[in-house]
Amino acid sequence: MIIKQLLSNLAILTSLLFLYTQLTKSSPLQRSSTISRKLLMGSTGGLLSNVLMQYSMQFESTIVDLRHIPVILLAYYGGAVPALIAMLFVIIGRLMIGINLSAYAGVILIVLITLISIYLSNKNLSKKVKIIYILTLSNIIFSVLVSIILTDAHILMFLIPSYWGISYLGGFIGFYMVEYLRNSQELFDRYKSESSTDGLTGLNNVRKFDELFNSFLSTIEQKQEKLSLLYIDIDHFKRINDTYGHKEGDVVLRELGNILKNSVRSFDIVSRNGGEEFTIILLDCSLERAKEISESIRERVEKYNFTLNSGENISITVSIGVACYNDTTMNSASLIEDADKALYQAKRTGRNKVCVSNS
Ligand code: GH3
Ligand code: MG
Ligand code: MG
Repeated sequence: MIIKQLLSNLAILTSLLFLYTQLTKSSPLQRSSTISRKLLMGSTGGLLSNVLMQYSMQFESTIVDLRHIPVILLAYYGGAVPALIAMLFVIIGRLMIGINLSAYAGVILIVLITLISIYLSNKNLSKKVKIIYILTLSNIIFSVLVSIILTDAHILMFLIPSYWGISYLGGFIGFYMVEYLRNSQELFDRYKSESSTDGLTGLNNVRKFDELFNSFLSTIEQKQEKLSLLYIDIDHFKRINDTYGHKEGDVVLRELGNILKNSVRSFDIVSRNGGEEFTIILLDCSLERAKEISESIRERVEKYNFTLNSGENISITVSIGVACYNDTTMNSASLIEDADKALYQAKRTGRNKVCVSNS
């Protein structure tokens, strides 16, 4: 019977913990979280403990449950503030159930567990050791207190070992779940960002470029808004690689990415579409303005000293093709091809220059 009830407490703990972790996945509790976040998370954890208390088992006037596990988790992940807040919730919740000797023992128990959890969480120990220490000490304190309060030796003989088992189980499963969910979320976020970002320059990759470009196409035609597209390609970049090596070529690509990003407004879209080819989508930008921006980029790159890993300074040039909806074309779907053609023309007619689409 005791085990059955403690197991149902465990089931409630894990399901609510799962919900809690999912709801807070966008910014999980950390020691560096803001104070308001810590207060909020502490309160939510305290409420979770109170839910567990509602499903507790009664032995004489003593109630037993897994209310301490959320407090331990909060201390472990968020430090003192959220743990103390949750502790307050537990104390208030317990006293509201009834004021008697075992309620006072419950208060002492949660205060000691909270303080131990905060203390040990700050220690320079491995994760596993910390968790084992905290849970073991909590179980010892529980056993001592419950032995003082409960008079029935039979109950104690069943209760204490069952509690140890379920408390360890609850603690380990709780930690395992939170760790697992946090790690999965982190990986998911990383893959998501890597699937749209170019690893070398941090700019959008070609997939993100396509996605954004297509989303703009529909709105510019509806609103008859201007949009300019620049295709930018490094001149004779193969020579840089051949002369200085691929790694130094990467340095140049990264630095050019920075120059491009710093040459446009924060909401313009700069991407590395592949190799040494970059694009810029200039939103709400006329052909005249796009030409000026392109020319200033071309000049800036030409004058810039690219410092290689070796310490050597080199310079490069770029060719740029420009197309603009609705100045060079009324057909937004042909923008990419037009800008590419203009780039090709710039290459063919001498490089280090800006050419405008003439379609
Ligand atoms: P052009 O003026 O006609 O554009 O000549 P180019 O040499 O720049 O053009 P080409 O297409 O012949 O060569 C592009 C070079 O870019 C070849 C390739 O080794 C290099 N490249 C492509 N991607 C990377 C990269 O990620 N890192 C480095 N370092 N080089 C790259
Ligand atoms: Mg090139
Ligand atoms: Mg190229």
